[in-house]
Amino acid sequence: MKFARFAFAVLLASTSAIAQTAVTPAPDDSAPVAPPIIKAFDPAAMDLTADPCSDFYQYACGNWMKTNPIPSDQVRWMRSFLQVRERNRYLLWQELDAAAKDPKTPLQKQYGDFYASCMDTDTIEKRGMAPIEPSWKMIAGLTSVQQLPELMADLENHGTPDGFFGFSVSIDDKDSSKQIAEIDQGGFSLPDRDYYLVDNPHFATIRSQYIEHMKKMFTLAGDTPDEAAKEAAAVMEIETAMAKASMSRTDLRQPTNTYHIMTLAELDQLAPAFTWSAYFHGVGIGHFDTLNVGEPDYFKALSGMLQSEPLEGLKSYLRWQVLHGQAEQMPKTFFDENFAFFNKTLSGQDQPQARWKRCSSLTDNALGEAVGQDWVQQNFPPAAKDSMDKLVLALEKAMGEDLQTVPWMSDDTKKAAEQKLAMIRNKIGYPEKWKDYSSVKVNRGELIENIHHVAVFERDYNFHKLGKPVDEKEWQMTPPTVNAYYDDSFNDINFPAGILQPPFFDVTADPAVNFGGIGTIIGHEMTHGFDDQGAQFDGKGNLRQWQTDTDLKAFKERTECVASEYSGFQAAPAKGDAPAQNLNGHLTLGENTADNGGLRIAYMALLDTLAGEHQSIDEKIGGFTEAQRYFISFAQDWCQNHTDAYARQAALVDPHSPGKWRVNGSVQNFEEFGKVFGCKKGQPMYPVNACRVW
Ligand SMILES: [Zn+2]
Repeated sequence: MKFARFAFAVLLASTSAIAQTAVTPAPDDSAPVAPPIIKAFDPAAMDLTADPCSDFYQYACGNWMKTNPIPSDQVRWMRSFLQVRERNRYLLWQELDAAAKDPKTPLQKQYGDFYASCMDTDTIEKRGMAPIEPSWKMIAGLTSVQQLPELMADLENHGTPDGFFGFSVSIDDKDSSKQIAEIDQGGFSLPDRDYYLVDNPHFATIRSQYIEHMKKMFTLAGDTPDEAAKEAAAVMEIETAMAKASMSRTDLRQPTNTYHIMTLAELDQLAPAFTWSAYFHGVGIGHFDTLNVGEPDYFKALSGMLQSEPLEGLKSYLRWQVLHGQAEQMPKTFFDENFAFFNKTLSGQDQPQARWKRCSSLTDNALGEAVGQDWVQQNFPPAAKDSMDKLVLALEKAMGEDLQTVPWMSDDTKKAAEQKLAMIRNKIGYPEKWKDYSSVKVNRGELIENIHHVAVFERDYNFHKLGKPVDEKEWQMTPPTVNAYYDDSFNDINFPAGILQPPFFDVTADPAVNFGGIGTIIGHEMTHGFDDQGAQFDGKGNLRQWQTDTDLKAFKERTECVASEYSGFQAAPAKGDAPAQNLNGHLTLGENTADNGGLRIAYMALLDTLAGEHQSIDEKIGGFTEAQRYFISFAQDWCQNHTDAYARQAALVDPHSPGKWRVNGSVQNFEEFGKVFGCKKGQPMYPVNACRVW
């Protein structure tokens, strides 16, 4: 499993990575308008009638929430992350639109053509089912389950989604210098296994809506109503079996659960119904003797299912993978039906995004490091990188001090923790070396084929890593992305250019505002190296215990405190047939630990910085002390509104807590907050018993 952890997650109903954004005429195809630059620290966003000691989130964000309803093309709206994302996307669109009209370089020609192929709805309508017919033909030729491995390889060589499981090369958890083959569970379309398995009226309704949706899609693709009903039932049966055999998201977070090195002979024994050697040969990966089988129980069950399921059912499942996986790039009738179920019913999205938005994001997903080269030149001043280097240094120093002062660690473990901290590498802005896409064929008028070419390119790029040294300079996010991540195997923190701007980071703002903004996010990413997952890896990124047993036990007691605290927070109230839903404290444990740690160490770094400049944390600017401005600036990055359906889905699948609890959970675990706002011990944001890991 890859353990890269983001600062925040944007949930998408779609299954295939490349099909993350949709593509076909939307009811609202309004012309692009430049979104505003968002102010860091905005008193107008606050609800000054609220008591910061009872509900700090309401105090810092109340007025923003009241005056910023969710736009009809969104499921969640955030003051910072999502508004900046809109702005970055607009800037990206300007670049893509110009490249599509008048390309000046081969790179611009390539991404301009890709974008143009996405905007060309006339051709998409005219071509109808044609782009997916070759894949369906391959599937129709399947005459026995023994041929399935070759068929799947053929589909993948064509760039088509095929489901059942994932296969890739990734870093060996126990030896981060090695890149090995790995298979993982995956391949059902609803957002989580709970959607198939939980026995209550809410999920039962969703399941029957999903079956209706599949019937409509198969009918649009040419099935008679009887055939469509049969196909939908078969897909539901297979996906339910896969969901049953899958490990839960919470269990997947435990690296030891997903580490099982096996020989090919052992894999054959575990899952004999699938001829693995034929599949590996077919996809053209180099030779290997052992691989990691992420979830052995899943593969055992999959093998059983392949033996018992009628051939026609397996074919329906594959047809569904192809159809569903590319529905967003197909003609409007398919797009609309897909939107109605996956976006509207499951997430509460009212309207599709305008086409230029979807096509801009799709191009960024497909050719991010091509588009990104020009984007950073336009939008990322080198001065921003220097300031970031300074901030990261201040945070590292604070984290080092924090590690020294925690009361529950022995000196030996403190030393080991400090070594790990010293080994964290920082990547800021964009890659030093860009990916070379020159071999990717892009043609106007062939959107789905273009996506296939990119998929095959990315797959081969990944396969090529087998047995090779790890490229430590590689990035997992494109430059315009408004996010950040920590990676356990690399032990590095990564900040794309897209997040290094207001309101997160503003060279003209006072230190409290920047430490509360980007500072807490840097601290968050660093703390990931020491959360319940990250702490299982050493400084070299190897899965290995580096704490003494006693210290590890104390650490677990402390993380359990955070887990049970957040499990008590409500994500969505009871509504209609849906029961009230709380957060899953173990699913969100890593992110919550990172939020708590980030808030504490960025505050320490701020104190250090102010002391160095002979400034006081109690100095007032605009009616608030520097300390208060720090906490308000932090909170305002998480101001959000969301649909009820989104909140429910996120509670099951998103390892991050919603904005309210990212703010209130963090401040109530940090005693400085209560002091700074003059709270009384025992008030909600200044509890008598708080949880603290770092
Ligand atoms: Zn995170």
